[in-house]
Amino acid sequence: MSFSDDQLICLRFEGELGYFAKAAAPPIYETAPFFFDTYEDYAEAANNEKDHYVYSRGTNPTVQIAEQMIAALEGGADCKCFASGMAAISAALMCSLSAGDHLILVGHIYETSVSLAQYLKRFHIDYTIVHSTSTEAVASAIKPQTRAILMESPTSFTFDMVNIQEVTALSKEKGIRTIIDNSWATPLFQKPLEWGVDIVVHSASKYLGGHNDLIAGAVIASKEIINRMYAEEYELIGGSLGPFEAWLLIRGLRTLPLRMEAHQRNALLVARFLSDHPAISKVNYPGLPSHPQHELACRQLKGYAGLFSFELKDSTYEDICRVINKLRLIRIGVSWGSMESQVISPNYGFNKQSLKKQHMPESLIRLAVGHEPAELLIQDLATALS
Ligand SMILES: *Cc1c(COP(=O)(O)O)cnc(C)c1O
Repeated sequence: MSFSDDQLICLRFEGELGYFAKAAAPPIYETAPFFFDTYEDYAEAANNEKDHYVYSRGTNPTVQIAEQMIAALEGGADCKCFASGMAAISAALMCSLSAGDHLILVGHIYETSVSLAQYLKRFHIDYTIVHSTSTEAVASAIKPQTRAILMESPTSFTFDMVNIQEVTALSKEKGIRTIIDNSWATPLFQKPLEWGVDIVVHSASKYLGGHNDLIAGAVIASKEIINRMYAEEYELIGGSLGPFEAWLLIRGLRTLPLRMEAHQRNALLVARFLSDHPAISKVNYPGLPSHPQHELACRQLKGYAGLFSFELKDSTYEDICRVINKLRLIRIGVSWGSMESQVISPNYGFNKQSLKKQHMPESLIRLAVGHEPAELLIQDLATALS
């Protein structure tokens, strides 16, 4: 599917549910239960809650609009939205793993997802972190009990690329389920289901929502996977998205193509400036030709999002603080994916050991480039680095 098809999906929220009195914006169905005229009607609906409106922990019309839009964008058969990206990732992992199974995490995965893998150990699910994104390294971590591989491409904080098609081919051969966190690229820049990935997850709190005002998540997969997940992880653990949050998500999705183009344009300018700066030793951005996997990035991605990292030359925690504290336009804060530029470092001064364990350089700063004029962002960084 082309970028222009995606642009149309983002604008047309009606999906299969085009019956909202022809409203230009979707209604918010802020209701817990739905009522029935006869008990027979209720009994029929209760027999298949996924396809009927019974109770909003299950299916809600506003949430369903967001789900249909995201499924269409990813080119997936079905989608369920969750109350957070972590709820979505938890459901994806739990519906793919049982006691005795083994999980592989490829490269530098989002830290909370790693903590989740650690938590799952109490249910006798083991995991291995592969500290490299090469397909060979992934292959050599596979055990007879390996049932799922979780990847991000590019990876969190370090922005290494995974060869998604190679890892998927390898997994299919061995009957291992592949799960990818596609929050960075969004479906506009990467559609992993087309390459045979089984499950795509999103933190919709980032680009899909796009306004720093929403916590949400999504899982996109085949009807078969989503139907099972609905009956188990979705309904039982209960991390469903509220109708108002779904409405915010729909509103965000409508400008996703415009916002991603703006992130890409600005981020490339800022990344180029940083890579020429004498105080900086490295810029980790797959969109730069200097990125060691730029060629793979060109083949795999249709565009580059606004989030990347860079490393200060010979720097300590104090240097990182000095630079970050001098920024005026760029705000200090976790998360990313909104119009405001934001900065953070994984170095907290007291976590040297943990950084070492994660193979993370102490001098790393992560920058989420937003929509402020690029020349002002560059000026802000130039002043802070001087
Ligand atoms: C933020 C983030 C998550 C978690 O999403 P929440 O919506 O905050 O729960 C998952 N994966 C990645 C890559 C993220 O950046």
